[in-house]
Amino acid sequence: MEERKHKAGYVNIIGKPNAGKSTLMNALVGEKLSIITSKAQTTRHRIIGIVNGEDFQIVYSDTPGIIKPAYKLQQSMMNFVEGAFIDADLFLLIVDPSDEYEIDDKTIDKIRKTNVPVIVILNKIDLLNNDLVLQHVNKWNEIFPESSIIPVSALYKFNVEPVLKEIIAKLPENHPFFPKDELTDKPLRFFVSEIIREKILMNYKQEIPYSCEVCIEEYHESKELDKIKAVIYVARESQKGILIGKGGSAMKRVGIEARKDIEEFLQKKVFLELYVKVMKEWRDDELKLKQFGYDL
Ligand code: GDP
Ligand code: MG
Repeated sequence: MEERKHKAGYVNIIGKPNAGKSTLMNALVGEKLSIITSKAQTTRHRIIGIVNGEDFQIVYSDTPGIIKPAYKLQQSMMNFVEGAFIDADLFLLIVDPSDEYEIDDKTIDKIRKTNVPVIVILNKIDLLNNDLVLQHVNKWNEIFPESSIIPVSALYKFNVEPVLKEIIAKLPENHPFFPKDELTDKPLRFFVSEIIREKILMNYKQEIPYSCEVCIEEYHESKELDKIKAVIYVARESQKGILIGKGGSAMKRVGIEARKDIEEFLQKKVFLELYVKVMKEWRDDELKLKQFGYDL
């Protein structure tokens, strides 16, 4: 008997705001989700969910919000955005047929030029009659003749299973990119640091969050409790003061909020220690950026 090859790939969900990306993502991932990070807007590294099967691994990803690059860090973040177009193995293009403003030709051109396979998802068909659905299927068939056009209702989880099947069919043969059975240290640390970063984004204004990098320096697992020590690096002494706040109040709030979410994520109790250190102008220091895991 021939052995079935393992498939794995990055599946990038694209589409206009409100098309139903998040709803479809939830429907696709459902209980199959093994890892999910916090809000897409706050992720620098784009991964939003990983779904594992016996012989496949789907890494769903999203892009950070578009910002004007001012520092090398932001340039690197924009590289991630562009990276969405470079390193995707498959695009899920979600369209809302009831949206009168179509996806612009420039975006369609950009997608075509990548030569990455596309699955077109016609979402919200619960709002359309069959004739209209057919019209839209035909229209998208002309735009992407090589692609499957799948009508769904993400909200009512109608016809979602065929999307999953089509994704698996289109995934390239690859070894898994992430451990399949359990979360090992590295991704675990990554997700914990992403949660802390999200709380910093939510609690401070303007450039402060973009001046911070979170490093998990110690991680001790035990049955009842995980002990985590995280260092938040800032670029300047003045930022350290702002981050800590009067009598440590601001940092305390970040710590409490982060701990709550980490505990929910890990489904266990956590002891979280946060430290703030200054690492001068790390955002423009290529070596340091590389240490933090950014590709330049
Ligand atoms: P995103 O901005 O692309 O992530 O879109 P969301 O997933 O946040 O969905 C935007 C809105 O469309 C929400 O109010 C959803 O409830 C709604 N929506 C998503 N999918 C469907 C669907 O299949 N049918 C209907 N009627 N509404 C939907
Ligand atoms: Mg969304």
